[in-house]
Amino acid sequence: MSSDLPTYEIYAVKYAGPHVSSVAMVFWNTAWDQKIERNYYFWVVRGKDATLVVDCGMTPALAQERQIPGYVSPLEVLGRMEIDGSKVKRVVATHIHFDHISGIEFFQEATVYVQEREFHFWMKDPLAKKPPFLMLTDPVGNRCLAALEGTERLRVVRGDQEILPGIELLLAPGHTPGLQAVSVNTTQGTAILGSDCGHLFRNYEEEIPSCFITDLPAWMRTYGKLKSKASSLSLLFPGHDAKMATQFPSVAEGITRLV
Ligand SMILES: [Zn+2]
Repeated sequence: MSSDLPTYEIYAVKYAGPHVSSVAMVFWNTAWDQKIERNYYFWVVRGKDATLVVDCGMTPALAQERQIPGYVSPLEVLGRMEIDGSKVKRVVATHIHFDHISGIEFFQEATVYVQEREFHFWMKDPLAKKPPFLMLTDPVGNRCLAALEGTERLRVVRGDQEILPGIELLLAPGHTPGLQAVSVNTTQGTAILGSDCGHLFRNYEEEIPSCFITDLPAWMRTYGKLKSKASSLSLLFPGHDAKMATQFPSVAEGITRLV
């Protein structure tokens, strides 16, 4: 993006974790016998004139039901950076998995941006009710999102679209049918929140996805697209890497500034 655009800072907001699983879950079919910790995040993009929340975290009810370790309410964590979630004006839903959409009810005044392909699949396609998809779904969060259809609060996006000067949504399928990444103009260049396109930085560094893949060829194309748009690979951020909480400057408990 060009230098006359406004710049933004990006914060990773950890709302749960660490969660321990096999490495193979987050690094395509390798090291089934090894364990790795990952966290649950959403993100805040903050500029001089606009604040955007990327993804919604999870409700306490769902966190309890799924026994998510280290859970803190997204509203509470946002409060630590003096953001009132109930007043946030814009939320980008990167994809409609439970850990990214469940907390949508917190953001009562927000306009929610979602890709048409993603919305259509999870809301209307009978396939989304099949077990491999259903297990990654929060029915309550999905109903909350579905209720926004046809209202001013839902912006259904088709493909790549600039939503604010210096902020562009990028269609990035593979992990899910219509995941969208968020391209952000920063003082370090173009940074991209890839969400679960990669769970770890390592997915991007080694061009290998997690095991949670809907369409592998689409993922490979998406990877090439995001890599070419980010100013550097280190500015392409994953969805769940524990390093986002430990290797960046801390601004409050559970919150780090990525760029
Ligand atoms: Zn996720």
